[in-house]
Amino acid sequence: MNQTLSAAQEIAQLREQLNEYNYRYYVLDDPTVPDAEYDRLMRRLQGLEASHPELMSADSPTQRVGGEALAAFDQVTHEVPMLSLDNAFSVDELKAFEKRLQDRLGRLDQLEFACEPKLDGIAVSLLYVEGTLVRGATRGDGTTGEDITANVRTIDSIPLRLRGPSVPPLLEVRGEIYMPKAGFESLNAAARERGDKPFVNPRNAAAGSLRQLDPRITATRPLQMCCYSLGRVEGMELPLNHSEVLQQLNAWGLRINREMQVVEGAEACQSYYEQMALKRVQLPYEIDGIVFKVNSLELQRRLGFVSRAPRWAIAYKFPAQEEMTRLLDVEFQV
Ligand code: NAD
Repeated sequence: MNQTLSAAQEIAQLREQLNEYNYRYYVLDDPTVPDAEYDRLMRRLQGLEASHPELMSADSPTQRVGGEALAAFDQVTHEVPMLSLDNAFSVDELKAFEKRLQDRLGRLDQLEFACEPKLDGIAVSLLYVEGTLVRGATRGDGTTGEDITANVRTIDSIPLRLRGPSVPPLLEVRGEIYMPKAGFESLNAAARERGDKPFVNPRNAAAGSLRQLDPRITATRPLQMCCYSLGRVEGMELPLNHSEVLQQLNAWGLRINREMQVVEGAEACQSYYEQMALKRVQLPYEIDGIVFKVNSLELQRRLGFVSRAPRWAIAYKFPAQEEMTRLLDVEFQV
């Protein structure tokens, strides 16, 4: 009884804390704790809720995706929800992920995975009607996002018209808008020169740039987009595999990540992860982990979703580096 009471208290405290961190991170673009600390508290809350299902609540931060839409932008409803990803933090958790998939699919053979760097930016949906870009929206809470069409139209790597004869009448593409490291450095150097507060990290700079009410400001910011999945699609037969979807997006003129690889089994996923961990510093953009996705779209459909994430994908995060130092450094420089 007593134990339940203290678990209930800790759960309430964690929920309050995480809600506050979410608000600072997603709504104000002004995080107050490093991601690793946030992830640690989130895991603790997930663990407590799993061992005390009677204390579960639909409005817990474990059940939500991201943040709310800002009132200043029009709101957009995502007909296909934009979800988050489950996390893994060790090779054992990666193997457990593969095991869960095999059990659920009732098969013992190794599964094929598409491996992609996890870009640290903002998830965005682009809607193309008859090949023309008609809407850009943020993920928001996964169901309701912000209409940022005027801002995404200023980003050079986002085509205003798709190329090629086979473009479907309706195509919703999803991906990450991010700020490459070099652009981030020069943006912050200029901010310091003017005596303005620099951005904490490239993700934060991308979020702030994308949510400008004046698109002329967004147009001056060095943003890029990399596409990684489809949302709503009409009038097109889907390919068999996720990797083929990416190649098709690329053929239509959308950027995809050139580091993407298809491998078999959790061990090969681990090798890809280690290889990318070494390559990470040389990449021109920040990544905070690797995303592994079951490559077959048919198996993805069979696996489906849980409340806030697909069952067929996992984000294996890199260990926290000097995140706190980075946050503190910036504060001292101001
Ligand atoms: P997430 O960052 O763990 O992963 C999901 C997101 O990954 C997707 O929505 C997409 O935007 C992105 N992504 C990047 N590359 C991708 C790819 N190749 N394929 C698919 N998706 C890809 O989840 P989240 O819900 O966006 O954010 C939660 C994370 O944000 C937390 O784990 C934490 O690290 C951080 N956070 C930090 C604070 C803080 O105060 N520091 C607060 C809230 C959240």
